Amino acid sequence: MTTYKIALLKGDGIGPEVVQAAHQVLEAVARKADFSLSFEEALIGHAAIEATQNPLPEETLEVCQKADAILLGAVGHPQYDEDPRRTVRPEQGLLSLRKSLGLYANVRPIQVFEELREVSPLRPEVIAGTDIVFYRELTGGIYFGQPRERRDEGNTALDTMIYTRAEVRRIAHKAFTAAMARQKRLCSVDKANVLESSRLWRETVNEIARQYPEVQVQHMYVDNAAMQLIKNPRFFDVVLTGNMFGDILTDEASQITGSLGMLPSASLGDGVGLFEPIHGSAPDIAGQGIANPMATILSTALLLELALQQPGAARMVRQAVQATLAAGFRSPDLAHAHTPPAMVLKTEAITQKIIDFLP
Ligand code: NAD
Repeated sequence: MTTYKIALLKGDGIGPEVVQAAHQVLEAVARKADFSLSFEEALIGHAAIEATQNPLPEETLEVCQKADAILLGAVGHPQYDEDPRRTVRPEQGLLSLRKSLGLYANVRPIQVFEELREVSPLRPEVIAGTDIVFYRELTGGIYFGQPRERRDEGNTALDTMIYTRAEVRRIAHKAFTAAMARQKRLCSVDKANVLESSRLWRETVNEIARQYPEVQVQHMYVDNAAMQLIKNPRFFDVVLTGNMFGDILTDEASQITGSLGMLPSASLGDGVGLFEPIHGSAPDIAGQGIANPMATILSTALLLELALQQPGAARMVRQAVQATLAAGFRSPDLAHAHTPPAMVLKTEAITQKIIDFLP
């Protein structure tokens, strides 16, 4: 029987609570499947700074490099948010991990659960049937470009938006491959009417498109994409975009589903992949046992599918989440005035329901 090694990086705030939940679900899935899992924990973020003064200790990187997949909670602590000048910060742990492992493709599926249509700020008829997957470039663009500095005695600031053809090609291949397994429609988002880096992006996407003749490609400016996402989200199948545009558009798209607590993500390169919920460490609710664990549990479905090539097990996890919602159970963030109090379950209880509903 194959044994896969999973690195567990719980991180900060609600990170340990949601990773604990996802860990239990993974163990339950493995008991039903014909593979086994071994888990190793390592520190990242504020928790790592407290223990070692380093947001990404060397041992953590080693645990990750040896693993078949990494499951992460979230990093971040209010003491850094209140003082942006602090130089050692939790999020550096995550940025360094992505960079060290070459995780250049951030994959974010945006799917509407029929049962949660009332949670979205958009009208049910607008969001019905939405099924998008974003491929956001994660290790290049303006968040990493040099120079980035202050000049003119601090009165002028600059960042550099930079892409190489090779960086665009490798993420484009991943997005086209995904499109081939879906509806074969790809929308590449850029700002080619203004930015030179976007013109290279578009040129390169067109070059890669020739290798995937079955995929219908459309280019869209980011301002238009921001509008179309809320006007007609069903239009999109695979969205391919750069680091900053993807950062902004995926948060916007998360609101189609109405809850940060439901959205998983994967960060992929050519080696080990990292799987994490899109939400942060939610310090406002940490330690209360009320965090919604479903984004992290759904991240394990991506992990099973994309890292371990176990699509059957991934389907089991998604079905169990769906069945839990269909049975009327809600985590506190998904409850509304008409939800019967007995159906509102805290983190541990809703995790147990999901495990009970595993097919
Ligand atoms: P956040 O996602 O942590 O929280 C935003 C709001 O959503 C909060 O009200 C929170 O209670 C709620 N929320 C988030 N996840 C939830 C869940 N699973 N269940 C129920 N409610 C949930 O974003 P923020 O408040 O902007 O940031 C908090 C900290 O997290 C900051 O330090 C930030 O830097 C960090 N952060 C980390 C990541 C990451 O690790 N990938 C991502 C975003 C923010």
